Amino acid sequence: MEAEKEKKVRVRLAPSPTGTLHIGTARVALFNYLFAKKQQGVFILRIEDTDAARSEDRFEKNIIEGLRWLGIEWDEGVISDQGQSYIGDYGPYKQSERTEIYLKYIKKLLDKDKAYYCFCSQEELKAKKEYQMSIGQPPHYDEKCKQLTAEEIEKNIAEGKRFTIRFKTPLKKIAFNDLVRGKVEFDTNLIDDFTIAKGSKENITPLFHLAVVVDDQEMEISHVIRGEDHISNTPKQILLQEALEFPRPEYAHLPLILGPDKSKLSKRHGAVAISEYQQQGYLPETMINFMAFLGWNPGGEKEIYSLASLIEEFSLDGVHKGGAIFNMQRLDFLNAFYIRKKPLMELTELCLPYLLSSGLIKKTDDIVWLSKIIQAYQERLKKLSEIPELVDFFFQEIEYDKELLRWKGMTDEDIRKTLDKTEEVLEKIEPEDFNKENLQNIIMAEAEAIGAGDRGKLLWPLRAALTGKKASAGPFEIMEILGKEKTMERIKKAKALFK
Ligand code: GLU
Repeated sequence: MEAEKEKKVRVRLAPSPTGTLHIGTARVALFNYLFAKKQQGVFILRIEDTDAARSEDRFEKNIIEGLRWLGIEWDEGVISDQGQSYIGDYGPYKQSERTEIYLKYIKKLLDKDKAYYCFCSQEELKAKKEYQMSIGQPPHYDEKCKQLTAEEIEKNIAEGKRFTIRFKTPLKKIAFNDLVRGKVEFDTNLIDDFTIAKGSKENITPLFHLAVVVDDQEMEISHVIRGEDHISNTPKQILLQEALEFPRPEYAHLPLILGPDKSKLSKRHGAVAISEYQQQGYLPETMINFMAFLGWNPGGEKEIYSLASLIEEFSLDGVHKGGAIFNMQRLDFLNAFYIRKKPLMELTELCLPYLLSSGLIKKTDDIVWLSKIIQAYQERLKKLSEIPELVDFFFQEIEYDKELLRWKGMTDEDIRKTLDKTEEVLEKIEPEDFNKENLQNIIMAEAEAIGAGDRGKLLWPLRAALTGKKASAGPFEIMEILGKEKTMERIKKAKALFK
């Protein structure tokens, strides 16, 4: 037990670069990261690209960039975007570059008679599978090639036949203690002789389970923390460990993330890629805080957690067994919270790409002026991508919808009169005194007088004239940002509708 305690914590995220960084994978990364940091352990990024046909560099790049954006740093693993270099002493950390290592263990399994060559063709296997299913049996390999003699094998290989190498699954019960789910048992009679490699005379490619097991051993992984969708892989991997006489790491399978309808979260429910959330203008702080609560809860009321405070609080004991429901409202609530907390200039910088790509601003626009616009909207913003639509009126001429300027029960004449009055009052204010406080004092007094108890009579047409919108920030800060000249222009233009 003591020795167990002292064992260095080494955990890994082992994504297959067959798609963009999924929020489920990012959550697995976060839990591994927190678990490692809490115990001064090591967090490793290993790229599992044994499936060459489906693995792509662009996905590897997306995964790396996504993790970096989230601030989930790894201590060992692939670091360059092309995956050409690594940090750490256990490399390479990319499976396609570790073939020699796997071949050594595949040979060992063959030599120990724990694996065998299989020459059954895909068509043959498919036909057998279909037959088994038609008679109500679960599909499984019928072990046809298990008895091949050494001569037959040699001959087949020499003839250039393609083969797989299958693991000889022993009949037994496998039990392991899952740190989330407790005791988990499997009967291996449900597992057939699964493939661990495929190849031909020219080369051999290791397959998923073999590569995972060898890497976890070679990289001295102490805890395998991964999604529950991998739980059925665990008995196969344990069998391989036993056959190779590897120690067994601890296992923790995290609950699945479910959509609001309680089915597994998928594209159908909305964005699943971290890069999509990034594009929509969710902040990394939001994503971290949000993902931490997908299947974990520290207990208590507190719901705002930074990465640092999560490290302090995190424990696998707080991970739930049941599926974690993805709550979009909570995500938006958290994002609005972190946006409100952002220092203004930082938030302005974050909004720039959205404003630039919408064509509203140019790179050369005055950043201090822009920051005033952002400040006026900081309280209202739920995601950064909303900013162009909220603030476009600062940059563009307004095409008014006349009816939008009308406050309850006002006639055209009423509107023209209040706009006239507003114009007259504003005209007297010097451009240098056109600031929020001053404008507020003067206009509010006027609104009281004009509205006779209903300030909306002045304020609504004014705000609508300034923005052309149903909802916006308050008129005083908008006037300050627009400046006197623009403000007067807009009021005149709006007034012209009510001649
Ligand atoms: N490569 C696997 C995946 O991307 C993960 C394997 C593991 O965590 O053991 O789903």
